Amino acid sequence: MNYISTRGATAVSLDDALVKGIADDGGLYVPVELPSFSVDDFAAASSLTDIAAVLLQPFFSASTLAGDLVQILAETFSFPMPTTALPCESGNVSLLELFHGPTAAFKDVGARFLAACLCRLEGDETAPLTILVATSGDTGSAVAAAFDEQPGMRVVVLFPDGRVSARQLQQLTCWSNNVLSLSVLGSFDDCQALAKAALADTALCERYKFSSANSINIGRLLPQCTYYADASLRHFRQTANKPGFVIPAGNLGNALACIMAREMGLPIGPIILATNANRTIADYFDTLEWLPRSSVQTLASAMDVGDPSNMERLRGMLGDAEVLRDRLGISCVNDEQIRAAMLADYAEFGFATCPHTATATHTWRQLDAETKQAHDWILVATAHPAKFDTIVEPLIGVTVPVPDELAAMLSRPFRSVSIEPGLAALATAMDAHFS
Ligand SMILES: *Cc1c(COP(=O)(O)O)cnc(C)c1O
Repeated sequence: MNYISTRGATAVSLDDALVKGIADDGGLYVPVELPSFSVDDFAAASSLTDIAAVLLQPFFSASTLAGDLVQILAETFSFPMPTTALPCESGNVSLLELFHGPTAAFKDVGARFLAACLCRLEGDETAPLTILVATSGDTGSAVAAAFDEQPGMRVVVLFPDGRVSARQLQQLTCWSNNVLSLSVLGSFDDCQALAKAALADTALCERYKFSSANSINIGRLLPQCTYYADASLRHFRQTANKPGFVIPAGNLGNALACIMAREMGLPIGPIILATNANRTIADYFDTLEWLPRSSVQTLASAMDVGDPSNMERLRGMLGDAEVLRDRLGISCVNDEQIRAAMLADYAEFGFATCPHTATATHTWRQLDAETKQAHDWILVATAHPAKFDTIVEPLIGVTVPVPDELAAMLSRPFRSVSIEPGLAALATAMDAHFS
């Protein structure tokens, strides 16, 4: 399988697409075609990693990593991704828990998979690869955790000073010497602009061999398809029903993976995107005009995206708004509704949800009775509530137990370095740290 840019340049191998991250023409890599599967193709596959190996094999067909796929998947999925039935009288609904990884958010999957691939392709201690990542919180910690202490790999994380939660800050800054976490005195947009400027700077590129681990890398998207394959197959085998999915969406990477799984023939029913108050996608479906804009801050901060980069992939793979709005549902959930949903989740389900997950539970609650009955629904839980304790705990009035792995991480010493949002400051900080 080869990969082409959404903007149409020549095809590259998976290995090149993984290392480059973004195409030379500025587009995003997509597979030249999606393989198609039937449920029977997975008959011999029972575990998540077995299913993932069947699903991803065609994507790796021409890669030097093909022989390592099973091992890469074993390294990626070192934690479970269970579906938990929710108590509900008006239909069959469950929660897909994607938050059992080291940093307690679904981004661990993409980050660990990408790390397993890049270490094999590029891990060279004499000429280390430097992964540059701009983050509003969860991506940076997942990437740092995945590459921590990997030989031949360095990570530079840029996050906006004062705009990540205390626990996110600890998770961003508690790593070994091959990870440099910089608190940028600016916004997330400044971090992203700085990362772009660094990747385009000749002098810096002479000193550092860069790659990017932002959600545009195809190596984050591919492994995410696998948990939708696994969850839908498990459900279909038990019930003969194709479950619908409600997916919290920001940059659209997680939801796009589910859409790709459905396109490939997995037993998936309706897909509904749940966004926060950032309305770019909803407005696009309404008006047919794509109008990216600055993001607005919400309680579901990891979804504060005004220009979802994976829309370019989605349009390239499926079509424009007329097509998309027929195939996808969308719901925008404001902060007041997020708070109400977190309260209702705790009262009805007996456990806390994070603000991002609450966009999905709210969206499902708003479905009419007929739609709730017509399909079995799987709501996607993208992060553990303990990660957002300062939002969740005062609201529901109880302390959320911290998962062991997160607790261990939070007990490590951490230290952060602040820089001005400029290339000179970044270069100075990197040279000082890595010299
Ligand atoms: C990143 C993130 C999202 C949004 O996922 P996208 O792939 O950007 O749409 C939702 N919830 C949490 C907790 C996240 O970290």
